[in-house]
This record gives sequence, C-alpha cells and structure tokens, in this order.
Amino acid sequence: MHRLLRASALCGLALGASCARPPMTPTAILPNEIRYEVAIEESDTGSIELSVMASFPPQTAAELSVTEGAEPFVKDVAVAASDESWNDRAVDHASWFAEECANGCRVRYRFALQKAADEIDDDGVAMQSHGLLEAPPPAWLLHPLRVFSDERVRIHVVSKVKDVTMATGVRVAPKEKDTYELTAGELPIAPYTVFGKFRRKDVDVGANAKIHFAIASGKMAASDSDLEAWASRAGHAVSDFYGRFPIPGTLVVAIPSRGDDVGFGRTMAGGGASILINVGRATDKSALDGDWVAVHEMIHLAFPSMGREHAWIEEGLATYLEPLVRAHAGMTTEKNVWLEFMTMLQNGLPRPGDRGLERTPTWGRVYWGGALFCLLADLEIRERTHNAKSLDDAVRGILAAGGDDTARWTMEYAFDKGDEATGVPVLRELYQKLGFASVDVDLDAIWKKLGLSLQGRDVVFDDAAPEAAIRKSMTARRP
Ligand SMILES: [Zn+2]
Repeated sequence: MHRLLRASALCGLALGASCARPPMTPTAILPNEIRYEVAIEESDTGSIELSVMASFPPQTAAELSVTEGAEPFVKDVAVAASDESWNDRAVDHASWFAEECANGCRVRYRFALQKAADEIDDDGVAMQSHGLLEAPPPAWLLHPLRVFSDERVRIHVVSKVKDVTMATGVRVAPKEKDTYELTAGELPIAPYTVFGKFRRKDVDVGANAKIHFAIASGKMAASDSDLEAWASRAGHAVSDFYGRFPIPGTLVVAIPSRGDDVGFGRTMAGGGASILINVGRATDKSALDGDWVAVHEMIHLAFPSMGREHAWIEEGLATYLEPLVRAHAGMTTEKNVWLEFMTMLQNGLPRPGDRGLERTPTWGRVYWGGALFCLLADLEIRERTHNAKSLDDAVRGILAAGGDDTARWTMEYAFDKGDEATGVPVLRELYQKLGFASVDVDLDAIWKKLGLSLQGRDVVFDDAAPEAAIRKSMTARRP
C-alpha cells in the first residue's frame, strides 16, 4: 500500500511552475526560516495536545492553515508582530490571517491531537492506530498557504508527557537535538508521524545506510532483535537490488496489532519518508522470515510519488519487483516467484468496460494490472537488448536521476529516465498502448515462451523453451 499524494496548490511543487522569490529584507529579530517549537502536553482532561510556537520570517504570506479537516482542532491562536505583544486571532472560514507576518511574526496555538485523531480517523490527517496517535506535520503545523518552496523549516519537539514521544520520517536536522528539517514546499506533503511509546534503534540496511526503526509498545511474540533483523533484511535486499538504499533515514514503525503475521503496510514520503507496518502480536520469527510486506513498502521508496490516477505504476512496480528482489536476496525461491505470477497476474487483465490502466482504478488493475505492465516491459526490454538490459536497469536509472519517493514527477518524465537507462523506449511505448485502452494479454503464450507450466500448485520449468534463459536471469540469486 502506498499513501497517495495529497492535493497541494503550492508554488514550486508542480513541475514547471515558476516561482520567483522577491528579495528578502534582513531583520535581526527573526531568522530567515520558519521555525516551530512544539511541546507534547496533556490537557486538563488527560488528552494529548500539542502546544506550538511558530516563528515566520519577513515576507510570509498572511493566510495560515493546516491540512483540510484538521482546522477545528487548532485552538487559542494568537499572533505577535516580531517583538510586539500577542493578539488573539479567530479562524476565518478555514484559515487564520496574520498580516503582521509580512514583517516577520510569531504565532502560538494549541492543537487537540488526540481529539483530532479520534474524530477524523484518516491517516492523511489524524487517526488512532493501535494505541498510537498518527498525524502528518501539516495537519498540526499552521503554515502559510503560499510559500517559497525552498525556504527552510525546522521543527523542534519536546515531550512533557511521561513515555510519550514523537517518531517522524521527516529528515533529522544535523547537530540539533530532537529537531527535524525540511523545506516549506515539502511541509504540506511531510510523511506519517506518530506519537506514543516506542522502543527505537537505528538499523543497518546496507550500502552505508541506516533506517530509524521503532517498535510501538505492546507485547509481541517476536523479540526486538527478531524484528530489527526483519527490517534490516528487507532493507538489505532492496539496497542490493538498487545499489543503494533509496531513502536513508526512513522511519519504519512496527505497530503491534491482531494476528500472527505481518499485516497492512503504508508508505508516505516528502521531506523524508515513513513506513508504518502492522505486525500481529503472535507473529513469530518464521513468519517474519517469510514476510513480503516490508520489501514491498521499501520498493515504494525508490520511485517518485505521482497523482492518484498513476497509482497503478507505483503499486504495479512494488507488486512485480517484490518477489524478484526477494529471490535475488535468497529470501524466496524461483518456483515461488513464478507460482505467484502465474496464479495472480490474471487479476490484472482488463475486464469488460475497462478503459486502460490510467482510467480503471480497481484493485485488480492497480496492483496486478500494474504488475502485468511491468512484466511486459521487463520482457520487452530484455528481448530488444538480447537480455543485456532489463526493467531493473530502468528503475535504477529513475532512482539515480533523483526519482525517489520524496520526488513529485510526471509519469512521462519517469518513463523517459527509465528508457534512457535501458536505451530502448519500451516504457513510453507500452504506456501509450496500455494506459488508455483495454488491451488483452495472452498470459499462456508468455508462460510458454518462458518455459513455464503449472501442475497443480507445482511450477514446472522447460529449459528448452525459447526464452528460458531470460526466465532464469530474472530470478537469479545475486552474489
Ligand atoms: Zn504498495
């Protein structure tokens, strides 16, 4: 699963938008950045709230707000022009207007986090999840609705509530304790942030990269070291496939939940990245060893975020690459990879009324239709390059060009970067063909040329098939 891009009207986010920045007027009073001092507190009734003091530099636009839906939980707003006294500010529709901010200002308020989580119950705004409060920063940080996208934002967080801390995927600020840093353009898309009780450890994910790993409180059958090894192994598999970990410093949170297996996972990126994964309390080491969810979510880190209509490529890539990445790392077998593809890819075929991948957002077409696109692309690239290049090279090329999950790219730009890396315009051509029309695919013919057949639940290989060599190289274990 993957959190899709929230709508945003920010200057600088849309590709090609031009945003000239007027000259700054220097002032000794306020820094040339947006700064938030946040305290996690308990209200009189024992509910978790955030007390926030924001400082805005000169030239800040007057209109301030939070993510749509979170406005009713912002309270006690007061504004002070640079060094002057506080003035209460009432909400005006869904915004707070602070004309003082043109010359630099401070804004203080409280955010009723726990109440918002209870009442909103939306992971893009605020929700409760297995005892954790989850709310991305733009839901609780009042921010200018018009910003200069490269302006620096720093968020310093302290907790006054015993055992409750914040864990966020927002990049850690260098040299400043408990402080996070991103740009003003990234703030409205900043990733999952959770408040609660955690055990934390930085975990190695290969290629000199670490992730911030957190286990939310709750009794688990698996030991902390088993859980850390699970996150690390998934990270290493993804690093080995791409040549590096896509977004070092990603926050990965294991959330104890019901069941005996790894459950639902979610990834969100912007100014850093977060992955939240439900792990059943009864999940044992062997279930962790067999898990695919962590690898699927980490693959999302290696591809740019796109609009909702392009979910099929984000999910399709993660669905298609996950078994292959695990096979390369020795985490699953060649037979299991093909068993999954041969039994599941038919879910991705167009049904009556289908209007192409871009215009048919059903579960089957988004996950397995996207995966089928990836299989067709992979085979076509390999056929045209005599198996010298593959979809692997395309996705590595996209990542190398800066297309990780924190980037907002168009589909065309990503496919151009992928095609440049393989030297054949397969992604662009296939997109034109399958994106906007219902095109049937003869899966049996594909299995035949690759030398694959099913006997019950057993996959039988035919090494005399015309593309048996391609099939073998797709799952070959890497040293
Ligand atoms: Zn996904």
